[in-house]
Amino acid sequence: PLTPTPFIWMDGDLVPWDDAKVHVLTPSLHYGWGVYEGIRAYATDAGSAVFRLREHIARLRDSARVYLMELPWTDEELVEAVRELCRVNGQESCYIRPIAYLGYGEMGVAPQLDAVRLSIAVWPWGSYLGDKAETEGCRLIVSNWQRNSNQTVPPLAKATGAYVNSALAKVGAQRAGYDDALMLTANGHIAEASAANLFLVRDGALITPPVSDGILPGITRDSVITFARDLGLPVTERSIPRSEVYIADEAFLTGTAAEIVPVASVDERPVGAGGVGPVTKQLRDLFQEVVRGRNETYARWLECV
Ligand code: PMP
Repeated sequence: PLTPTPFIWMDGDLVPWDDAKVHVLTPSLHYGWGVYEGIRAYATDAGSAVFRLREHIARLRDSARVYLMELPWTDEELVEAVRELCRVNGQESCYIRPIAYLGYGEMGVAPQLDAVRLSIAVWPWGSYLGDKAETEGCRLIVSNWQRNSNQTVPPLAKATGAYVNSALAKVGAQRAGYDDALMLTANGHIAEASAANLFLVRDGALITPPVSDGILPGITRDSVITFARDLGLPVTERSIPRSEVYIADEAFLTGTAAEIVPVASVDERPVGAGGVGPVTKQLRDLFQEVVRGRNETYARWLECV
């Protein structure tokens, strides 16, 4: 269950958690026209720090552009808002959820786009897929719900309405007894999980679907690609046919909430030797070191609270 924190930032004000309300007639509720982000702050030896905050704000702005929304705050103001919110809520290590949505005006499918509102909430959030998935790997199933495509709902924007697609896949997977779903593109290529990107390891090299296949350009995905290149591990961004996942040496998911989680099986086929594979472990250990401020090379990715 969600643990409340004292305040939610709403259009520049710090509002008590229970009073952070939106009118029922917002078009963002009726038609799903809104954009959001998921960010994490970590406790480091030098205090709390937000991981790649500026990149997340840039992606929020990109998502807003796709949906013709102008965010009424500058990047600098949003960075300050997030830092202030973490401080006033006394959260060292938390999940951060900014969301831009619409105030209500005329009703109708074409929403009035000149009343953009912005809220930010933070709350403690532990392991997304559970401790068992962290140590033994998660169990995935390929969803029969196709991933949103560029011809339907743009996958590279993190839009509220787009997530009914992910939610259908996730709920279906969970009801069938799996941790999460992998979703395919119209061409039968692997796109991503419901809220995380996929990487395969084959012969010591990383393979991940390209953004052009219709995925969210994950910031954790970008971090892992950077780590791999710096470690001298080859990385290829190319289409992955469904069955290639079955024969990978290792596979793992990346996401802000999920972090880096090994994949134990896909469609009941064990991936690799089980547990946390050596390449997955190397990247995950580095990621944990970086977000905890114990690695100078990537210190630029931490925004002190
Ligand atoms: N794909 C989808 C559909 C997601 O919702 C997320 C989570 N934001 C990701 C991938 C991973 O992106 P990031 O690493 O930026 O959190």
